[in-house]
Amino acid sequence: MVSLQFYGGIKEIGGNKILLEDRGTKIFLDFGISFSKRQKFFEEFLTPRTSNGIGDYLAMDLLPDIPGIYREDLMEHIGRKPEQADVQGVVLSHAHADHANYVSFLHKDIPIYCGETCKCILEAVEEQSQRDLENEILDFKKRPLYRKDYKNPPIKRKFKTFRTGDKFKIDDLEIQPIHTDHSVPGAYGLIIHTSEGAVVYTGDLRMHGTHAKMTEDFINASKEVKPIAMISEGTRIDISKTDETEKKVYDKSKKEISMNKDLSIVDFNFKDVDRFTTFYRIAAELNKKLVISFKHACFLEKYHCDKKLKSPDSKDKNILLLKPKRLTGTYIDEDYCDSYIKKRLNYPNIITAEDIVKKPHEYMVVLNFYYFNMLVDLKPYKGTYIHSLSEPFCEEMEISFNRMKAWINHFNMHFVQSHCSGHINGTDLKELIENVAPKVIFPIHTTHPGIFRSLSGQTKLVKEGKTYKL
Ligand SMILES: [Zn+2]
Repeated sequence: MVSLQFYGGIKEIGGNKILLEDRGTKIFLDFGISFSKRQKFFEEFLTPRTSNGIGDYLAMDLLPDIPGIYREDLMEHIGRKPEQADVQGVVLSHAHADHANYVSFLHKDIPIYCGETCKCILEAVEEQSQRDLENEILDFKKRPLYRKDYKNPPIKRKFKTFRTGDKFKIDDLEIQPIHTDHSVPGAYGLIIHTSEGAVVYTGDLRMHGTHAKMTEDFINASKEVKPIAMISEGTRIDISKTDETEKKVYDKSKKEISMNKDLSIVDFNFKDVDRFTTFYRIAAELNKKLVISFKHACFLEKYHCDKKLKSPDSKDKNILLLKPKRLTGTYIDEDYCDSYIKKRLNYPNIITAEDIVKKPHEYMVVLNFYYFNMLVDLKPYKGTYIHSLSEPFCEEMEISFNRMKAWINHFNMHFVQSHCSGHINGTDLKELIENVAPKVIFPIHTTHPGIFRSLSGQTKLVKEGKTYKL
């Protein structure tokens, strides 16, 4: 008998944790953080306490209380008996936090399967972030973490990586990952060959991106196996077909930046390598240098190692690294304590805001909202700001968006929205599902699961923790 249980991604965007069981073998498809569950109780200055380990997460339902899946140290920390791992593997569809980050809490003996590029991205994230309980995917430190143990090396998780075309087994379950196009490289749809037939999981995907062909490969392979069930993302099931493409982002952004005589600032998600390529190309074609942060350099160096992504190195002639002001604000070496900055201080292509201000039209600076205080030094008066991210879709985002706009207005900058989504629109998704023709559809990663009911085939609106037999 095959069964499915869903813990997250239910009437919400992300947080997927899907438990599949077949003949005693249990695997999770993704194990992500649910931002909406977290935001329900927590915010910037009210967070789950590290001092209570996994306790706050379990008590506030940010994590499901399932035996045999969590770290032994975290169980002991809250006065429970450590358990043996009772799940044989977690397969990650891609490296976005809402699909991967809560692996941090999982038992060290549960192996994690993911794409090679997905692992590289997780490594880039780890290199430039502070260790905390929600960010210990690749390795973790035993809690409670006593001062005497600070220097002890972390415990590494078992990772097994794959590429498209590979097939691998977890006990008797055969898994076939197939590349898809999404706003992060190394994204996969999964076909799980169970004893009852094939179960297909879309992960996150789209048809309007640069690599639609990859999603088509996934659709064709899924169709071929005549799936008994399909677990489908539905982020934009309520949106009909749009004309958005990466090419449009390129055209619009290039036009705006070419008309600008002053500093250009762009913001996009650096995990999106297609978007990086778009702005890298624009900068090179307009004879400008693309200025990135030391954090971005961590990503770029990983991308550069992956030959398939054809990304430049962080020391490329068209790339500069923006040195942030720390401690004394005088840019002396001793100001920098973070190792991801320290190890790159000798790069030949480092620039400061003061250098940029001398010839602002020669640069395109990639600057995230959280670093907007650097605008004080960059003085981007009358420049252009390209917001290459989704527009706000919740109250919290709206507040940040308005604050961002206040900065843009303060510096008298020209605001431009130029973006295309990482998620498939409703029209394309309905076509995809009709094409694959699964017996049953389980919509997740959506706030509109009901819309799936209009499709032919049976739709099951999932309930958290309920067992669905296949
Ligand atoms: Zn995603």
